[in-house]
Amino acid sequence: MKNWQEFEAGAVLFPFEKQGQEELGKHNNERTYTTNSSFTASVANWRVEKPVHNKEVCINCFNCWVYCPDASILSREGKMSGIDYEHCKGCGVCVDVCPTNPKSLLMFDNLESEQEALAKWPQKAEGLKKKSYRTEGGYNGF
Ligand code: SF4
Ligand code: SF4
Repeated sequence: MKNWQEFEAGAVLFPFEKQGQEELGKHNNERTYTTNSSFTASVANWRVEKPVHNKEVCINCFNCWVYCPDASILSREGKMSGIDYEHCKGCGVCVDVCPTNPKSLLMFDNLESEQEALAKWPQKAEGLKKKSYRTEGGYNGF
C-alpha cells in the first residue's frame, strides 16, 4: 500500500473489496465495500436537520446530486429517488440549489417523519423571480 503522499494528484481510492472498475459498474447496493470504508458506517448520527424529498414536485434536474458534498443523493433509473440518511450531514446545500417552486427538497427536524414533513409542504409561491445559482465567479447558491 502506498503512503498517501505517493498518490498522484486527483487519484481515487476505491473503498471496494474487489477491483474498483468492476465494482463501479454496479449499483451502490450491489457493491462490496471494505469494512473500513465510510460507506459501511453511518457517519450522520450527529445530524440535527434532514432534507426531505417531495417527488410530486421534483423535476429530476439533478442539481442536488451535483452539489451534495457527501454523495448522499440517491437515484434510480434516471430519477432522483431520495436521500442516503446514513451519510447525509444535513448541510442543506441540496435544498439551496433545488430550483422548483415550491422546492422539492426542504429541511425538517431530524426526528420528523417523512409523512409529517410531506403534509406540511408549502404551496407554490406566486410572483417569485427565477433565481440563478450561478454567477460569473461560479456557484452562488448561499
Ligand atoms: S443536506 Fe447536505 S449532505 Fe444531506 S443530501 Fe443535502 S447536500 Fe447532501
Ligand atoms: S434539485 Fe430539486 S428538482 Fe432537481 S432533482 Fe434535486 S430535488 Fe429534484
